[in-house]
Amino acid sequence: MNIYEETKFLINKYNISANKNLGQNFLIDENVIKNIIQVAEIDKNDLVIEIGPGLGTLTSKLLEKAGKVIAIELDKKMVTILTDRFALYENFFLINEDVLQVDLNKIIKEEKIANGNVKIVANLPYYITTPIIMKLLEEKLNIESITVMIQKEVADRLTELPGGKNTGAITYCVYYYAQAQQVLLVPNTSFIPIPKVNSEVIKLNIRKEPPIKIQDEKEFFKIIKASFMQRRKTLINGLSNAGICSKEKIKEILYSLELSENIRGENLSIEQFAQIVNSLNKNKLNNY
Ligand code: SAM
Repeated sequence: MNIYEETKFLINKYNISANKNLGQNFLIDENVIKNIIQVAEIDKNDLVIEIGPGLGTLTSKLLEKAGKVIAIELDKKMVTILTDRFALYENFFLINEDVLQVDLNKIIKEEKIANGNVKIVANLPYYITTPIIMKLLEEKLNIESITVMIQKEVADRLTELPGGKNTGAITYCVYYYAQAQQVLLVPNTSFIPIPKVNSEVIKLNIRKEPPIKIQDEKEFFKIIKASFMQRRKTLINGLSNAGICSKEKIKEILYSLELSENIRGENLSIEQFAQIVNSLNKNKLNNY
C-alpha cells in the first residue's frame, strides 16, 4: 500500500473525517516524507518529539530512524489510531494533550537518550504555528533542531533575515535563537484534504550562543512585538501608541543612533533594535 492508500484505508477503517478546527491535513506525498526525514538527520541515539502525529504517516518513518519518538496529539480519535498502529513499537510514546500545555523541558530532561540529541519534527497544525514555534524557542529547550512543515507565507517570515522584505516580529525571535533555512516547497496537493495554501518545510538549527548580547530578552522581544503591532506605522508612532515611551524620547534615541525619524520596525537590523532597547533602558535607569 502506498501512503495515499494507507491514509484512505485508515480514514475508512476508523470512520473519521479530518477536523478543520484542529488543522488536520494529512500528508500523502512519499517524497516529502523522505525529504523531511533526511533533512532532520535522525539517528538511533536521538529522541524525536513529533507534534501532531495525526494518523501516524510521518511517525512510522521516524520510528525506523530514531531511538525514541514521543508524539504529542490533541485529538482523541487520532490517539486511538496511533495506539493501535504502533502497539508493538517499544520506542513509541504518546501524549494526549495540547502541545502548548506540555512541559517539554521536563520531558526532555527525563527522556533524552545519553549521548544523543533531541530533535523536533512535525507537520504542524497551521492554526497555531506561531505560538508553537515561539514556545519551542522561548522555553530554551535542550534541542538541536526543529524541522517542520508550515504555511509557505509563514515560512517566508520565519526564515527571512531581520530587515528583509518579509520581516515580522517573529523573524527577530527566530534569528536570535536559531539559524533558519527553507528546505522544500510543498504544493497543497500533497495533503488530504487539500488546504487552500502551499506549504514549506523549514529547518531551524538552534544556536549554541545568541548572535548578539541582550541584557533583558523579555523586554527586548516585548518592544519588538510592540513596534510590529501596527505594521504600517513608523517606529516612533508604533512605540508611543503601545505606551512604551514618548515620541520625543524615541526621536532623541533615533537621532543619537543616526537613524531616520521615519524608520519602521521592519527596516531595523537586530543590532539596531538592541541599541534602541538598551538606550530605552538606560533612560529608564537615569529617570530613577
Ligand atoms: N502528522 C500528520 C501528517 O503529517 O499527516 C498530521 C498533521 S496535521 C497538519 C496536524 C495535527 O496536529 C493533527 O493531527 C491535529 O489533530 C494535531 N493537533 C492540532 N492541534 C494540536 C495541539 N494543540 N496539540 C497537539 N496536536 C495538535
